[in-house]
Amino acid sequence: MNHLNEQLSNLVQGRVIVPGDPSYDETRQIWNAMIDRRPAVIVECANASDVPVALTYARDNNLEITVRGAGHNIAGSAICDNGLMIDFSKMNHVRVDPEKRRAYVEPGTTLGDFDAAVQQHGLATPVGINSTTGIAGLTLGGGFGWLTRKYGMTIDNLISAQVVTADGSQLTASETENPDLFWAIRGGGGNFGVITEFEFRLHPVGPEILAGLMVFPFEQAKQVLTQYRKFTKSAPEDLNVWVVMRQAPPLPFLPEAVHGKEVIVLAIFYVGDIKEGEKLIAPLRDFGNAHGEHIGAQPYSDWQQAFDPLLTAGQRNYWKSHNFSELCDDALDQLINFAGKLPTSQCEIFIGQLAGASNRVPASAMAYSSRDAKFVLNVHARWEHQSEDEKAISWARAFFKATTPFASSGAYVNFMTAEEGDRVSAAYDTNYQRLVEIKRQYDPDNLFHLNQNIKP
Ligand SMILES: Cc1cc2nc3c(=O)[nH]c(=O)nc-3n(C[C@H](O)[C@H](O)[C@H](O)COP(=O)(O)OP(=O)(O)OC[C@H]3O[C@@H](n4cnc5c(N)ncnc54)[C@H](O)[C@@H]3O)c2cc1C
Repeated sequence: MNHLNEQLSNLVQGRVIVPGDPSYDETRQIWNAMIDRRPAVIVECANASDVPVALTYARDNNLEITVRGAGHNIAGSAICDNGLMIDFSKMNHVRVDPEKRRAYVEPGTTLGDFDAAVQQHGLATPVGINSTTGIAGLTLGGGFGWLTRKYGMTIDNLISAQVVTADGSQLTASETENPDLFWAIRGGGGNFGVITEFEFRLHPVGPEILAGLMVFPFEQAKQVLTQYRKFTKSAPEDLNVWVVMRQAPPLPFLPEAVHGKEVIVLAIFYVGDIKEGEKLIAPLRDFGNAHGEHIGAQPYSDWQQAFDPLLTAGQRNYWKSHNFSELCDDALDQLINFAGKLPTSQCEIFIGQLAGASNRVPASAMAYSSRDAKFVLNVHARWEHQSEDEKAISWARAFFKATTPFASSGAYVNFMTAEEGDRVSAAYDTNYQRLVEIKRQYDPDNLFHLNQNIKP
């Protein structure tokens, strides 16, 4: 460690990690194995006061700054070569006030940490579907999951945040304090400062919910999708059904002959009375002749981890995503066309259902503007070996292009890859200009620019 890093080490309460440190390589790893970058310094923060110290050090030494929540971002924006990474992995405490139904959450918290803490009180708020994702990045981009139809996006449940801005000020952002900053961080990503605490509204959920999978033969994809489209038009908001098209994993409830074959899966989640849910989902069985199903009452926090085995860190990943306000026939045909030529065994296409509470929030209420999105599509290319990069990436790009004419406005910044810079303004649609103005106010020099960047 050089003299300057030693000085930094004396100023922060957390750890300073530099190349050569035994934990350096582990700490610089992120979810997407396509990203292999070597920062000059990592500040593993112990508390919020370490953040302004790290920012000053980076400025004084002309270092680029990145911020890492749980390192899940597909673009790898948590890390850069030769810069300073603010790492929150040790700040993952969640304090719950069950009376007020509030959670106060540190920025290194994963969704699994969060769900575990709030479910102790039978509470939850909408977050994503993979428990190792970070709540920080997820929230700053919008955040959606199984509870979104009923309770909105994660940001719709954000009450306040503690923010360290580019000049080192520590501010509260809420409807009443620095409301413009609060407007911007709800969807505007890491552009406006470093969040050191999130305060969320919680709702009674579970602890048992009804959830599971129905797996249909790929040959029945068109009939499943057209019936899905009809069914989701009138299904209550307690029910959320997603579509996944991929090769069948070796799930014990599927005949062995189906393992590794293309299938179309309905992933089903119902948050109301279990018996009522069973009645509501019965018609899904008539969508086709299912290979098998595994559905039942289970703890909410178990279902929140159900997809973890398919989404482990360390594989190569490339994503493309669109929002849809409706699923027209041509879009469905493209889905089937591309799901029929998956380039690797781990690639998948999923459609998540958003329709509900999120659509009732005006597009101008906060930075995230895609309030007409009823579905979100993610083309999830995933593979193991570098030699497969080209075929997996070109498949995802071709599919994205083929479905572009049917997409609705906006885009989900949390699913955007590094090269989509020109899509950022489109993602925020009519809110973009206001974001630029707020960026000028809080970060005129664009200190926080290694993200889906809003240029001041
Ligand atoms: C397997 C998987 C499943 C997913 N499922 C969902 C899902 O169901 N729903 C959904 O909405 N999204 C989902 N996502 C997308 C996810 O929301 C984004 O990848 C998000 O960026 C992850 O947050 P993170 O903190 O782990 O990311 P990181 O890579 O650590 O951070 C991403 C960026 O967020 C910003 N950031 C992070 N922390 C802070 C902070 N404290 N202050 C300021 N800026 C910060 C920085 O710009 C950083 O570069 C999923 C991602 C993966 C990989």
